[in-house]
Amino acid sequence: MLTVENLRNLPLPKRQEFLKDFPHLVDPFEDRDRIYNQGQIELGWPNGAMRRFEHLARENTIAIIGTQLGDEAKGRIVDNKLEAMLKIPGVKSVNVIRFQGGNNAGHTVEKDGKKLDLHLVPSGIMYEETVGIMDQGMIIHAQDLKTEVEYVEDSVGDLRGKLFLSQDAILATDIERAEEVANRQKEDATKGGTGRGIGPANAHHIDKTGKHVRDLLDNEWRKKFAKYYELKQRDLDGHGMDLATMEVPDFKKSRLTGREEKQVVGTKQEFLDRLEVARSWIIDRDMATNVYTMHKQAFWDATKGFVFEGAQAAGLDAFTGTHPDRTSSNTTAYGVRDGTAYWTQEKISERIGVVKVPYMSSVGERIMPTHIHPESEDGEWSVYVRKTANEYGTTTRRPRDIAHIDLPFLAYNAAMAGIEEMAVTHLDVAREDTQIKVCVAYKDKKTGENVQYQPGLHYQQNVEPQYVILPGWDGVVCMEAKSLRDLPINAVKFMAFLQARLGYPITSGTNGPDRHNYLEINNAITV
Ligand code: GDP
Ligand code: MG
Repeated sequence: MLTVENLRNLPLPKRQEFLKDFPHLVDPFEDRDRIYNQGQIELGWPNGAMRRFEHLARENTIAIIGTQLGDEAKGRIVDNKLEAMLKIPGVKSVNVIRFQGGNNAGHTVEKDGKKLDLHLVPSGIMYEETVGIMDQGMIIHAQDLKTEVEYVEDSVGDLRGKLFLSQDAILATDIERAEEVANRQKEDATKGGTGRGIGPANAHHIDKTGKHVRDLLDNEWRKKFAKYYELKQRDLDGHGMDLATMEVPDFKKSRLTGREEKQVVGTKQEFLDRLEVARSWIIDRDMATNVYTMHKQAFWDATKGFVFEGAQAAGLDAFTGTHPDRTSSNTTAYGVRDGTAYWTQEKISERIGVVKVPYMSSVGERIMPTHIHPESEDGEWSVYVRKTANEYGTTTRRPRDIAHIDLPFLAYNAAMAGIEEMAVTHLDVAREDTQIKVCVAYKDKKTGENVQYQPGLHYQQNVEPQYVILPGWDGVVCMEAKSLRDLPINAVKFMAFLQARLGYPITSGTNGPDRHNYLEINNAITV
């Protein structure tokens, strides 16, 4: 039987037979020989490479999209790119736009030694020259928004006139959170929820029964939301559940204690009173606005730049992700259209996929094919990675699963995400004495046949990853690098291997959590 493991020693016709199952792939061993033995290292945009949408795009526009399972370090890439954009002559201010997801996302950003965990507020809010926009594709929990803005303001000062919320954004209230709890208790439990009511809120946007920011701003809001409460209670009656006593996560308290805290939705009166506090606060700050008009004006303003900040990742996309343990929105560059009602992906000149290397992490119930079981021979490596890269959930501190990097999964996600180039992060999370396993193909566990990647966990349960082994490098030396040339050569070769296999230029990399641990790869580099 032909497998990746024995492919290397086969005569060419046999190798071609194997590769016919993977028409989009070149022999991984050829890439390894070329890069590792013959030293043909190419990084960045290949000379003469075409950019597909260049003639359509608005200049100074960047989209940052996760290509794996979230927490690739999109927040800090936004930050690094923003800093660079603000240095472009003529650019006076940048709109940073969140277009999907809610506070089921968490980004860590750092400036002047201050670290901020952001969930709803767009990254880049720490800069004076930015405007943050929470656009119509976002899911907003009004009380949590108030909590987060107050937390951010403690560090960076008043955000009035600097942070805007689309009137058309989708609302998640404690009722949607209760629905999420209820769905879990019902027979066909939803998977992948974070307890923040995001799934039910997105679902009710589609089935047209849900609420939006404009409903909360309405003069008649109390009547509308009272009716909403009664309607939902009637649905829950059939399941013997009562909103007055149903417990939902309390993220304000969880933030303070670092534990998973709960509160009851409460009576209709209590529910409405809590909502009213957040509503008055939003109105008082004049934060909710017609974002569409802002986009239209800004598009033609040459002093403006734009950063579209993706949340979650292509691997979690509602339609092409790890079904059923996925998120409920379009997480890709294509999601910008629905999430802004103004921008389309071809108007965005740089569409960057963020790729965590040389491993992947995952939080959720899903088990990925390349998952490293703690008891396996690579268990010690996964413990090292979790500790070194601080792979714990931002709110709950739950340890994230660690997996080997999976190229069939990545190739698919990159294609579906509409990206054109890659930023690789966490290059410092490596050891000289630990080889890196890179999954380059799958075979069926039962039949042993080679199989292609197919989205959905049900397909992935039956595959066995096939690996190419590559040398590791010194993570400490890597972190000290100030330029690409200071990086351990095996880190550079690894990037070249990734670029060759995936076919998207790597145009930046990070070699540590701090803002200065950042490497820009502007032009084609041949080492
Ligand atoms: P996001 O959700 O994609 O924005 O990513 P998160 O901010 O949730 O998670 C990324 C984590 O990795 C954060 O704790 C960052 O401080 C950290 N981080 C970012 N870049 C690097 C890097 O190059 N090396 C290491 N060791 N950590 C990094
Ligand atoms: Mg995150």
